[in-house]
Amino acid sequence: MKVKFWGVRGSIPVPGPKTSKYGGNTSCVELNCDEKTIIFDCGSGVRALGLDIVERDFVEENGKKELYVFFSHVHWDHIQGFPFFRPTFEPEYELNIYSSLHSGVDIESALRGQMEKPYFPIRLKDMPAKMNFNEIKIGEDIQIGRIEVKSVSLNHPSGSVGYKIICNNKSVAYITDHEHNERSKQRLVDFLKETNKVIFDAHYTPEEYSGADGSGGRKGWGHGTWKDAVELCRAANVDQLILTHHGHEDTEIDKIELLTQKEFPGSIAAYEGLEIDLC
Ligand SMILES: [Zn+2]
Ligand SMILES: [Zn+2]
Repeated sequence: MKVKFWGVRGSIPVPGPKTSKYGGNTSCVELNCDEKTIIFDCGSGVRALGLDIVERDFVEENGKKELYVFFSHVHWDHIQGFPFFRPTFEPEYELNIYSSLHSGVDIESALRGQMEKPYFPIRLKDMPAKMNFNEIKIGEDIQIGRIEVKSVSLNHPSGSVGYKIICNNKSVAYITDHEHNERSKQRLVDFLKETNKVIFDAHYTPEEYSGADGSGGRKGWGHGTWKDAVELCRAANVDQLILTHHGHEDTEIDKIELLTQKEFPGSIAAYEGLEIDLC
């Protein structure tokens, strides 16, 4: 199983010299296992992934090039790259798209909505790739060949879904847009138990979140801190924590990574292009 990061920023793309080390694109993670390509979220990072995918020698299934796309939720920073995802413009691709309802809105409606006139020149229905939309009931298992996908409900405005992929006795969890609280703690510890790699939302510093920095705090804004991530990963006996959905410039992320490593050795802050091999 291989994981590659294509977008690690939270809330908005932030290109520029102060963000070039970790990259400026919003959420997108690729996972390859058992000759299947799974994508978590289509933030602006999915554009570069799409350009890369169409250059690959693809293993076709049933005469189609199949991709599996899981959305955590439909805030802009998780869907805004979708209209620029090159495989959607190629008829030989088939996208199996999964998400739960968010504020009663299904994923197809959300993707269609952001491409409606006057926001975008091309309609979702005019994209030539075949798209199969699947509504996830949180907690039910999804089987893709030999890959098992589990889901968990996260604490975020309009909701977010965390995922865990299990393949060849290895596991990776993608937990973003989640605000730590006592109510969700045990649920997440149980969900993440003994997971090899956990990708986790660490948008704020603990000082920002609490308001200790004098900013007024960020409680109720739907994101966590590296300390929350460490607490959960330690309790769940996780092998490695990978911080994502960064909300700061590179120099600050460097500091956050060091602080996290002191408390949970082996942790890293994700950057665009980071590849992790779980063989
Ligand atoms: Zn987000
Ligand atoms: Zn969000």
